[in-house]
Amino acid sequence: MTRVLRTVLIKSVKLSRKVFRAFVELEGMYRNMVEQLVLYAVRSEVKSFTKLKALKYHKMRSLYPQLPSHYVYTACQDASARVKSFLRLKKRGLAKREYPEVRKVSIWLDDHLWRPDSLTSIRIATHRGWVRVELEPHRQYWRYVNREWKLASEAKIRLDKRNRQLIICLTFAKETKEYEPRGYLPVDVNENNVTTLVDGIAYLFETNTEKLVLGYYYRRKKVQEKYDKLYGKRSRIKKKVLRKLKEKKKKNDIKWKIANLIVRTAHERQYAIVLEKLGKKPASNMIRRISNKQLRHRIFQACFRGVQKAIEEKAREYGVPVILVDPKNTSKLCPIHKAPVNYNNGSRIGECSKGGELWHRDVVACWNLLFKALRGDGSHAPSPVGHDLDGSPVPLGSTATHDPVGLSKSLWARWKSLPQIQYATALNKMKR
Ligand SMILES: [Zn+2]
Repeated sequence: MTRVLRTVLIKSVKLSRKVFRAFVELEGMYRNMVEQLVLYAVRSEVKSFTKLKALKYHKMRSLYPQLPSHYVYTACQDASARVKSFLRLKKRGLAKREYPEVRKVSIWLDDHLWRPDSLTSIRIATHRGWVRVELEPHRQYWRYVNREWKLASEAKIRLDKRNRQLIICLTFAKETKEYEPRGYLPVDVNENNVTTLVDGIAYLFETNTEKLVLGYYYRRKKVQEKYDKLYGKRSRIKKKVLRKLKEKKKKNDIKWKIANLIVRTAHERQYAIVLEKLGKKPASNMIRRISNKQLRHRIFQACFRGVQKAIEEKAREYGVPVILVDPKNTSKLCPIHKAPVNYNNGSRIGECSKGGELWHRDVVACWNLLFKALRGDGSHAPSPVGHDLDGSPVPLGSTATHDPVGLSKSLWARWKSLPQIQYATALNKMKR
């Protein structure tokens, strides 16, 4: 069993002045406690929450006797987390100050300090008693409520003083269990596409991640230069424009779309997903061309690690097993003859040095990932249950085209999983 957690931000309705006032007071007291605790913890080098609580509980409790006592617990947890990350930064020489600055405050709540009241309201314990707060639910919230997700006991609230609203950070949890795979879905991730092999048919999903990351990077830079010139380096308006840009990017984030598609395809068939173990994978030619080191790193992260992480996370949610295999030679050896495939001048089409047949690089990678999984080279040591492949080249007739079915982003981006019609078309194409 794995526990998958997701946080969801939800706003309250606009609160009355009187109710909001109570939260402003609460935030003030909570902030003061966290500030004091942080100072103490850094000075006396107490990092652990339990130790901090043991040492400071009575002092904090006597400071604000009117507050529900569990606010002392959560303030200690909050402070301990802040101190830990501060000391980590300091160790790496990245902290400028002697003490961490407590600037933004979210009030941490545990199960004694809040509870759901109905599906659209919660109750929060304050120094003025329990206060009922109406929520403004949105689509994403209902999606979690209506599926098998359960509300976790921890929550955080932040005050939006301008609009007199609370921003509530809820955590949803789901217990998932991996199924026994009935087959394998190898997935090869590249900078511009994600290729997968579904029952012998390769699909190449165009992602253009590299182009997207670059485009976003230049747009961001342009905004920075323009606003720095007009309003100075620290202008509020620049921050706002950049935030909008980031939100837009997040909304259109291609990696979640492809992750959904891949995971649903595997889940429908009860297959395990086979991925390359990342880490040593060198940057491709395309990425190496970019001279800006930071940018190169970012593209690499977005293209490979970003997509892989998204697939792994979605897979956990659906209980889809993921097998990681050694990436060595995955696109170099012909899946039939085990001989090197020659790719000329960075071409993605290569010729088998033994059989002379043509191969698409990403399709080669998928077949080899599949064979590695079947042989049990992965961390999972799988047994090929109910799969008709045993690693022999039977399914790869030399007359078959080894071209993947290319799918442009505009076509697949709205799919939830591989539609049957696409599947049928591909089969027909294979027969011809
Ligand atoms: Zn060959």
